[in-house]
Amino acid sequence: MARVAVVGAGLGALAAAARLAALGHAVTVLEQAPQVGGKLGWYARDGHGFDTGPSLVTLPQLYRDLFAVTGGPLEDAVDLVRLDPAVAYRFADGTRLSVPGHAAAVPGALDAALGAGSGAQWSALMARAAAMWRITEQPFLRSPLAGAATLARLALSGSDVATVAPWRTLRGLGTAYLRDPRLRTLLDRYATYSGSDPRRAPAVLATVPHVEQAFGSWYVRGGLRRLAGAVAQRAVERGAVVRTGTPVEQVLVEGGRAAGVRLAGGEVLRADVVVSGADAAALYADLLPTSRPTRRVRHDLARSTPSLSGFVLLLALRGRTPGLAHHTVLFPDDYDAEFDAVFGVGRFRGAPRPVADPTVYVSAPDDPATRPDDASESWFVLVNAPRHDPAGGVDWDAPGLADRYARQVLEVMARRGLDVRDRVRWCVVRTPADLERDTRSVGGSIYGTSSNGARAAFLRPGNASPVPGLFLVGGSSHPGGGLPLVALSAEIVAGLVGPA
Ligand SMILES: Cc1cc2nc3c(=O)[nH]c(=O)nc-3n(C[C@H](O)[C@H](O)[C@H](O)COP(=O)(O)OP(=O)(O)OC[C@H]3O[C@@H](n4cnc5c(N)ncnc54)[C@H](O)[C@@H]3O)c2cc1C
Repeated sequence: MARVAVVGAGLGALAAAARLAALGHAVTVLEQAPQVGGKLGWYARDGHGFDTGPSLVTLPQLYRDLFAVTGGPLEDAVDLVRLDPAVAYRFADGTRLSVPGHAAAVPGALDAALGAGSGAQWSALMARAAAMWRITEQPFLRSPLAGAATLARLALSGSDVATVAPWRTLRGLGTAYLRDPRLRTLLDRYATYSGSDPRRAPAVLATVPHVEQAFGSWYVRGGLRRLAGAVAQRAVERGAVVRTGTPVEQVLVEGGRAAGVRLAGGEVLRADVVVSGADAAALYADLLPTSRPTRRVRHDLARSTPSLSGFVLLLALRGRTPGLAHHTVLFPDDYDAEFDAVFGVGRFRGAPRPVADPTVYVSAPDDPATRPDDASESWFVLVNAPRHDPAGGVDWDAPGLADRYARQVLEVMARRGLDVRDRVRWCVVRTPADLERDTRSVGGSIYGTSSNGARAAFLRPGNASPVPGLFLVGGSSHPGGGLPLVALSAEIVAGLVGPA
């Protein structure tokens, strides 16, 4: 039995803690915030309740696996609801498209909304994406990153290489398969699921809409934060200790291997294994002593583009919006301007800025747990935003910026047909700087590093660090961010540590 110290109680870390406790290890989770969940947060006031981070669960099977191997079914712990429709899109030309929650119904809906032939184009792309998923799931997503060994595992046949097309971007793939610009916009949006720019992210991200449509879009009744509570509860049931309000200041390295952690206030917790669920950039910059192997990881991190962040409005609204889907996306006229602004490239080279005319994502669960009464609604509104970077980019703490931009987002929504300005009871604004403060993700990046560039996936920090006994879990390490992938990172780490 190893003593395991887990840094942070984000979902990846909690999943690792549950697995390692179930394997018989003595696990202690140390979370700086007063509650568990990290980005999977919750805000409640006056009977209104909001998930402040994720609003969409994909690949729930990964959480079913987690719960099954740690002692009992997921469905006993949370109430999962499959969404149908999955998402309603409004395009800049006024077209409305409601995407059904089951893959078989998608082509028909596309033909009806976008014109005959759209469904066939999308189906051909999804068939290619399904093949990409079969090729990459096991050797890449479900296995540790191991330099040349990963490449050897990925030693693909010529036809597999042609299918995955590692040289191709998501935009390039969309252009090859989709003639309708609205379909291409729809595909481009999936790059943002990993915080990336479709013009630079790899084509293999087409697997994201594939898994979303093949396995469904899901909600957790009562709010997604319940998933974090349930995983924490499972870890505790298996014997883990969870300490909140407990910042880790340093990962101790003795004789070249991880030896425990030092907490704020000086307490030392000795451990045989340290699992860090903190942002990898913060781990390598602040928590670990510098050494030659860690310098190498810092170098790789410096060569990666950080993921985008998000600007969030939590809107407590009077009244209800008839016919509103659970998820609605309002697209702008010029999607590329959004990526230029967020990443400071193209026309905004070197000068990232809040997006003037952003894509707006509205999540409005029809769930009594989120509203004070049936004549009210609670909307989570998200727009892509550059990370908080007072030194070289956007300073989200600049006086007046957050309020000004919140008004701008509400105006954009009004222009695109969702005018709620006279229904706002109150509005809470959460900027990338708030996300950084609350979860210690550097710059408020949602997913650590982005997938921009063909090598990005290989530059992302691995789950086994160069320091023996120190492992990384969560969205800023392999295989990446988002609820499904962090579950995979936990599975990989539990496999690397092994049973007690
Ligand atoms: C606005 C927003 C929307 C999102 N939407 C979706 C979505 O719809 N679907 C989806 O799948 N994903 C979504 N995500 C991404 C998803 O939230 C994350 O990938 C996921 O929650 C997993 O995070 P993590 O395991 O990396 O940990 P995090 O949530 O990043 O948590 C890290 C934890 O470590 C703690 N910590 C950090 N440093 C220390 C330290 N030194 N000592 C102690 N504790 C420390 C932090 O306080 C935090 O609790 C969204 C994220 C955001 C912010």
